[in-house]
Amino acid sequence: MVTNSVLPGCSPERINDLAAILWCFERTVDPPSGHNDQVTAYLSPSGASLWKQCPRRWWFRYVEGLPEPPPGEPAVMGTFVHKVLEDLLALAPADRTPEAARQIATEYFASFSERGDFQALGFDEAATRRFKHKAWTAISAYFAEFAPTEVDPVHQEMRVRAEVAGVPFFGIIDLLERDGSVGGDAVIVTDYKTGTPPDTTKPWSAEQNAEKLLQPMWYAAALMEMGEHTPTLARLLYFTAAETADGGLVGRTGKLSATVDDDALGAARVELALRWRQIGEAQETGSAEAKPGVLCGWCPFVTHCAEGEAEVRRLHGETNRRTGQPRMRADAPAVVELGLS
Ligand code: SF4
Repeated sequence: MVTNSVLPGCSPERINDLAAILWCFERTVDPPSGHNDQVTAYLSPSGASLWKQCPRRWWFRYVEGLPEPPPGEPAVMGTFVHKVLEDLLALAPADRTPEAARQIATEYFASFSERGDFQALGFDEAATRRFKHKAWTAISAYFAEFAPTEVDPVHQEMRVRAEVAGVPFFGIIDLLERDGSVGGDAVIVTDYKTGTPPDTTKPWSAEQNAEKLLQPMWYAAALMEMGEHTPTLARLLYFTAAETADGGLVGRTGKLSATVDDDALGAARVELALRWRQIGEAQETGSAEAKPGVLCGWCPFVTHCAEGEAEVRRLHGETNRRTGQPRMRADAPAVVELGLS
């Protein structure tokens, strides 16, 4: 086995993705003959989700290693807010106050603002102020909805690595906390999300939410394999800053959770094994199916994908009958890249 930090898919922009680092350092190197047909060494939740969303996009990222733009503001904001919460929960419960969070955020931002991912945003003074305002709005929303003083952390940023249903699985759990309602080694698996909270009221959102919950359920399955804890609940906590019509900011929160039982674990294992098998089949055939849809508007590989480009052009030219708006947002990156706006 040869290791190489400049393999396709191992660009410096991905150094924050620990799963990607492992993948880069543990895969074999092929002769330089087009695409790399080696299977990935591990499947992470983000890789499994991307495969489901669009196998071709997964292929471009993980196999072809096509360059991607640096992370945008939402991803950079998520990194910042995650770290503030991690440091907050490292304090004694009574000390986990909003004032302490503000102090952590202020001190951390001094070094965070020097990082490459933040610098790449190219913010001037006003945009930097707005970034900090948004981050604090999200953290305030967390305090308004959740109770950090009641959290009993077992691990934060916990790396899990296990074979789940025959799949080499790797991931990082944001928070593993004791489940006081059960006791013993019972734990709750929590992942933070700083994106838009899920809609739980619409029937069509059930499938999307079930897909989202696979991530903490896969973590729970990995923990079961590792035999160190007994997960009882898998959940996603959402807290974010949303823009208001008048340009202000408002905190939004949400939660998705599922009991960890044999049925839920079994379904998650089956789904993980299915995606891993499909990935293997794609590696054998040397191609992956395109799954065009509205998310093509945000795909960094659209100019490499005839199906995706056609979809963006089609949706851009159509009007949503209900809203009267174009079916593809004019500010979608692919719309701009294709020169449609
Ligand atoms: S443009 Fe669309 S179909 Fe093509 S790879 Fe990207 S998400 Fe998939």
